This record gives sequence, structure tokens and C-alpha cells, in this order.
Amino acid sequence: MRLDVVTIFPEYLEPLNVSLVGKARARGQLDVRVHDLRAWTHDKHNTVDDTPYGGGPGMVMKPDPWGEALDEILASGDGAPVIVVPTPSGEPFTQQLAVELSAKPWLVFTPARYEGIDRRVIEEYGDRLDVREVSIGDYVLAGGEAPVLVMVEAIARLLPGVLGNAASHQDDSFAPGAMADLLEGPVYTKPPEWRGRTIPEVLVSGHHGKIARWRRDEAFRRTDRNRPDLIERADPAAFDKHDRAI
Ligand code: SAM
Repeated sequence: MRLDVVTIFPEYLEPLNVSLVGKARARGQLDVRVHDLRAWTHDKHNTVDDTPYGGGPGMVMKPDPWGEALDEILASGDGAPVIVVPTPSGEPFTQQLAVELSAKPWLVFTPARYEGIDRRVIEEYGDRLDVREVSIGDYVLAGGEAPVLVMVEAIARLLPGVLGNAASHQDDSFAPGAMADLLEGPVYTKPPEWRGRTIPEVLVSGHHGKIARWRRDEAFRRTDRNRPDLIERADPAAFDKHDRAI
């Protein structure tokens, strides 16, 4: 998969060199290209922003550098990428969207600063490409670089061969499948006793059926406590008699 990121803070994307994403890059599973938007400015101050039409506080990112940057990046590859525009006013970034984007061969991210990018840029590329305006949550950050780090990590770990054990994301909270509407329950490892706290007996029983039931019950309890909205909006058929008794 190829990922391009256009930003005025390329150094903000340095975490893409470490851990899971860094290893995927080193193995050639991910081709990440970070570009400095200011490379497409032509004045001596490398200006990327200007005052908003209609007045008001803050600055708006100018269309010219974005247009030149995106044209050059689009011309450098085969096919059409999905352009992902981080913005608090976008569709919510969910596990489902991460799965969808992980199937695309090429993504271009456009993290903004100030009050965002001149609307005409989104319209211009939206007329001929799949442009997705995406929010990582109901709060406002100073820039789109942290949202890009969030999205790239969620997408990259779904790519075949990126996680050591492919099954590990299948049991995650929000993962499609039998537990799709439930958060993951608590997890434990050795030692069996720590500061007087033991682990649930069932986990060392060797009884796979009982362990699976316990995990589902715990997932249901946690979801009911922390995210009751997930249970409310799920198809009632997703829950068995045992779930409903909790
Ligand atoms: N005035 C904009 C609004 O209220 O929607 C907020 C602009 S914010 C200060 C600057 C940039 O940070 C945004 O254009 C976007 O790239 C990024 N950003 C901030 N919060 C975000 C969020 N929750 N999800 C995705 N991107 C976000």
C-alpha cells in the first residue's frame, strides 16, 4: 500500500518510522511518502495561509499550494488514490472505515492547520476522485497530523502480514464477526498472582467453551457499562439468551 501525507510539519510524522508502521515500511509492505506543503509555495515566506473571506478569526489554507502538491503527487503514481481529508466536520473514523481503507492500494492524507483548507480544493478533487472527509472524534485539535497518525496505525495493522499474529485483530473491540457489537473484555498474563490479585479461574481451566463464554460475558458487561449505545443500536439477534440475562 502507498501512503502520501502532505503537511507543513513533516517532522510531526516521524512516529511513522517506529514500531508496527516503521517495521511494515522496512519490510516494503507500506510505501510512506511525507511531503512538505511549503515545497509548492513560490514566495519568499513560503506562505500557505491567508485571511478568510467573509471575515472572522483565524486563517485559511490557500488552495494554490494544495492544488500543485496534489497534482504532482497524483501524477507520480498509477491509478487513483483515495484522498483522506482529516477534519472535525467529517464522517467518523471507525474500525469499519479502517477496514475499508485498508483494502485500497493508495491513500493520500491532507492534514491541515489553521481553520482548514479552502473548500474549493475538496470540491476540485472530489469531482474526479474518492475524497473522504474524516473526523477522529468530537473534539478539535490544532492540526490534522495526529489524526493521520491515528488513522495510519489503525489501517496498517489490518494489512496482511503486518501483525505478527493475523488473528489478533479479529478479537479486537469493534472487529467484524461474532463479537462485532461488543468491546473486548479484560485480559491477563503471568504471574498468576500479583499483589494479592489472582486471575479468573476459568482462564486456566483448559475448557475452551467455558473460556469463550466467560470472554463474551465480560465483553458484554464492559460494553454495557462503558458504551451502552453500542448495545442499543445493535441488531437484537446479535445477542443470545445468556447475554440478555446479564
Ligand atoms: N475550524 C475547524 C472546525 O471547527 O471544524 C477546525 C480546524 S482545526 C483547528 C485544524 C485542522 O486540524 C483541521 O483542518 C483538521 O485537519 C485537523 N483536525 C482537528 N480536529 C480534528 C478531528 N477531530 N479529526 C480530524 N482532524 C482534525
